Amino acid sequence: MEFDLTWALWGLPLAFVGGWLASRFDIRQWRLEGRSAPKSYFKGLNYLLNEQQDEAIDAFIEAVQHDPDTTELHFALGNLFRSRGDHDRAIRVHQHLLDRSDLSRGDTDRAQHALSLDFLRAGLLDRAEASLRRLQDTPYASEAQVLLLALYERTSDWPQAIAMAEQLESANRGSFKSRMAHYGCEMAREHLLRGHTEQAQAALEQALQIHPESARARLELAHLLEQQGHTDRACSELQALAQLAPNALPLAAATMARLALCDAQHAAQVQRVLTEAQHRRPCLDYVDALVSLLPTNDVASRSVLYLEHLQREPSLAVANRWLALRGVTDPDTGTQEASGVNSAESAALPAVVAQALQKATLPLQRYRCAACGFEASTYFWQCPGCQTWDSYNPRRVDDL
Ligand SMILES: [Zn+2]
Repeated sequence: MEFDLTWALWGLPLAFVGGWLASRFDIRQWRLEGRSAPKSYFKGLNYLLNEQQDEAIDAFIEAVQHDPDTTELHFALGNLFRSRGDHDRAIRVHQHLLDRSDLSRGDTDRAQHALSLDFLRAGLLDRAEASLRRLQDTPYASEAQVLLLALYERTSDWPQAIAMAEQLESANRGSFKSRMAHYGCEMAREHLLRGHTEQAQAALEQALQIHPESARARLELAHLLEQQGHTDRACSELQALAQLAPNALPLAAATMARLALCDAQHAAQVQRVLTEAQHRRPCLDYVDALVSLLPTNDVASRSVLYLEHLQREPSLAVANRWLALRGVTDPDTGTQEASGVNSAESAALPAVVAQALQKATLPLQRYRCAACGFEASTYFWQCPGCQTWDSYNPRRVDDL
């Protein structure tokens, strides 16, 4: 039998190479590494589900160290850092992802979006704006525009906010006209602070052109006209408000009554508008305005207005006003302050009782945000608690 030396010639080098590879490659280690990354990953997930975020971060860091090329783990880790308020590390993780050349277009956009959120949370608004602007023409463009709008509101950059709201409006992302009117009012307020009355008036008129139903623009324009002595035009603006934004009429009632007292021509009209509104649904501001239109010494007529209100709506604030018409007795001297009520008809309230009632009714005269429940004694067009626009009910708590 003839021995084939060809096999030996090939077999020896192959055996040598196989031995060398075996020495460099430990199969046990390979198995261990192959399993350790997913194990850390699932450990992290488990911690997340148990709301143990610190432990989850440690597990994800371990997983990322085993597999530095993975993107999902980096995203998970970056988002975890952000949710924990560790903005520096979140920015570093997402920036690291963006710097990678092997990232797909989708993951690049995602990392840019995540980085924008990091900057926003960290309060680095200049960098957030630049980052959000890079998201144009990506699937995140719409969200980026809404975030930019919020950013411009936060920085009181009203011209940019108007431009962005116009973009959103033209992209059919909903109606932003009410917001644009508010931005115009904010610009008017800044003009007034600098003493630029004409520019302020122009900004308010522009706001009304954009959104004629804007109660704020109408009301602030009326106040400006009143300050300039144009009571007639101020009255007309508020009459328009009653027509175009009837829900906001409680906010205008006191000004309407004040203007009517200066302008006899409008007095009857104002009284009619307020009486009709009060008849439709009683309101503390309407009854106060109507009472203020009556002569101070006509206590009987004032009393009737309050009683009519109470017959339709039980209200502690209105009851307190009716009681106040009876006058107050000084507890030390026993003397009664002039009230105009016939002393034979009623006894005056002791001052301490009047004060206690006044204190009890104050919380009822606040305004309340429908979005977060925050209450305030002054009306806010944007809630200081939740930043929502037009979330305050124009009616006071007692009228709700
Ligand atoms: Zn709120």
